[in-house]
Amino acid sequence: LKKIAVLTSGGDAPGMNAAIRAVVRSALAEGLEVYGIYDGYLGLYTNKIEKLNRYSVSDIITKGGTFLGSARFPAFKKPEVRAKCAEILRSHGIDALVVIGGDGSYTGAKLLTEEHGFPCIGLPGTIDNDIPGTDYTIGYQTALETAVDAIDRLRDTSSSHHRISIVEIMGRHCSDLTVSAAIAGGCEYAIVPEVNFSKEELIQQIERSFQDGKHHALIVITELITDVHQLAKDIEARVGNETRATVLGHVQRGGSPCAFDRILASRMGAYAVELLLKGEKGRCVGIQREELVHHDIIEAIDKMRRPFKAELLEVSKKLF
Ligand code: ADP
Repeated sequence: LKKIAVLTSGGDAPGMNAAIRAVVRSALAEGLEVYGIYDGYLGLYTNKIEKLNRYSVSDIITKGGTFLGSARFPAFKKPEVRAKCAEILRSHGIDALVVIGGDGSYTGAKLLTEEHGFPCIGLPGTIDNDIPGTDYTIGYQTALETAVDAIDRLRDTSSSHHRISIVEIMGRHCSDLTVSAAIAGGCEYAIVPEVNFSKEELIQQIERSFQDGKHHALIVITELITDVHQLAKDIEARVGNETRATVLGHVQRGGSPCAFDRILASRMGAYAVELLLKGEKGRCVGIQREELVHHDIIEAIDKMRRPFKAELLEVSKKLF
């Protein structure tokens, strides 16, 4: 192993820069050459590849986003596109690739390994914490802090105006961000993808709590469950109190990574290089019970399910 490359793909997440930095610097420390591929698989296909040195990654550990850029490039699902990408990698003399991204990016990496024998290692970079085979993904803790900060601010104004606030949180089909934000933000109701949502039940609960003397309410809900602005209208029509929905959206993806994400990204980046040096390929890195681990990418995606944190949801319900 002489030359490795690194790219970030799919949705960006705070801490991706720290992961790139760790890959670059630990590879250089092992005497390897490192190449940065810009804009994910798109940049690989269009040959946007540059040699990196230790100063290429100076001052980025504190920065959100990814200096390499990221992209959605659906064409990477075509075998002939992947074949051209493998050829481009080989034309640079690159003999291994670290992919930082979500499960879509992982699948692309695994296919490069399977079809072209090209060693790839995946690092979990997403705020959604929805990747199997790891307790935490890079970016999740930072996004959680951002969501809780937003909820705290909404609490101030909801409380002053006896308002009901609905906060839509990211996470796609994973409730981790929502239930954790619900507990940390002291929210009354958490609506998550793993539990069937009944608008009627929610409204009745709110009506009861207002009859019992509550003056305001905070509801957190994972994205993609329902139209939160319509939900706000329906609640207001029944309960009477002004109800507003706030979609946190991409705000959650930005910002300087928290210490936890920087440390996780640094450890995982260094570990990815270690694995490549040991000849591992088609593996994804995770952290489970505080230990760095690696799994077969396809096995992780297909067979390992991220456990639903029912206990967190129960706690949030008890404390409201
Ligand atoms: P994430 O990696 O965050 O899950 P996406 O699902 O958008 O984000 O995937 C990022 C990129 O990975 C896609 O734009 C595409 O280039 C590549 N990719 C996704 N799914 C596949 C697949 N099934 N086969 C090959 N490449 C894929």
